[in-house]
Amino acid sequence: MSNKINIYVTQPCLPPLEEFIPYLEKIWESKWLTNAGPYHQKLETALAQYLGVEHLALFANGTLALITALQTLRITGEVITTPYSFVATAHSLVWNSITPVFVDIDPVDCNIDPDKIEQAITPHTSAIMPVHCYGNPCNVERIQQIADTYGLKVIYDAAHAFGVRYRGESLLNHGNLSVLSFHATKVFTTFEGGAIVCPDAKTKQRIDYLKNFGHAGEVTVVAPGINGKMNEVQAAFGMLQLQYIDAAIERRRRIDVLYRKLLSGLPGIACLSRRSDATCNYSYFPIFVSSDYPLSRDALNSKLRDNNIYARRYFYPLITEFPMYRGLPSSERSNLPVATDVSGRVLCLPIYPNLSDGQIADIVEVIASSKRAGQ
Ligand SMILES: *Cc1c(COP(=O)(O)O)cnc(C)c1O
Repeated sequence: MSNKINIYVTQPCLPPLEEFIPYLEKIWESKWLTNAGPYHQKLETALAQYLGVEHLALFANGTLALITALQTLRITGEVITTPYSFVATAHSLVWNSITPVFVDIDPVDCNIDPDKIEQAITPHTSAIMPVHCYGNPCNVERIQQIADTYGLKVIYDAAHAFGVRYRGESLLNHGNLSVLSFHATKVFTTFEGGAIVCPDAKTKQRIDYLKNFGHAGEVTVVAPGINGKMNEVQAAFGMLQLQYIDAAIERRRRIDVLYRKLLSGLPGIACLSRRSDATCNYSYFPIFVSSDYPLSRDALNSKLRDNNIYARRYFYPLITEFPMYRGLPSSERSNLPVATDVSGRVLCLPIYPNLSDGQIADIVEVIASSKRAGQ
């Protein structure tokens, strides 16, 4: 089998270009390009309603939103987090002069293992920053219980969790703050973008100050803020994209169902299990390669590449393997046996709305055609 076109792990789902033109015309007419313009205000309201959250502050990207979320709650010292994530999770801590303390993950959901959090708490710990990995909800009840017991704040890196509902309400309503990313590779995109979800108007006000240099009026600066503002073109694109998001997630769901059907029974290939009490946005399709499969994870990845299929090893290497984190005591591999094992076996297969059923069948065919030597 030879694919003529390259299939990447994700591809943005772009609405017809002509539908975006009227939005741009409005921006050109108003000449209001950024600083809480009309589309920015519309998108904050529309997203809060769509997601089912009280307040939401838009950002230029998810990383600035993470950095600002930590500033919002004045987090210092040490923060407990996961090594099994995109590197921005830990970087946001370092940009606040906070020391990340890495805790191992649960092998079933790939999220921080709540049973291992308490032993990582020290007198310097001020918060927990878990990640809803692949959009799979963390054990939010256990994490909140631990946070309450020790007087810690909880900031969720919810970059994967756009639109996920858990036990009848938005997953983003858990913790003190949740942070979204609208990067081009995410389920909902504004090219670059992000948001902080918060429960009350007072916190939203502080976030709005912080993302605009701390300006609280023409001649008043109340905090050493940053420039984290989303511009009008991004926000307008978000408004257009929102019209298509339900259809996009539905198509992702069908792809997920098809993958699971076609991959079922293949020895050594396991799919991520999903909770029955949460909805899913089907943002990623990780598979886990075990020794029952004829090839190693990396050999399978190479074989897919030979067929122009570009899967990604999310999350390999672990954040703790990068030079700026490797020296921390909590980065020791012996502290992270599960994350180390999962990171060595995971492969995220292509999933995006424009991926066709035929392409999915081709991808699975490459995976299924591997035979052990001699077979
Ligand atoms: C994408 C992502 C981020 C960073 O978001 P940007 O919008 O790209 O800055 C942070 N954390 C996780 C888990 C992500 O996947």
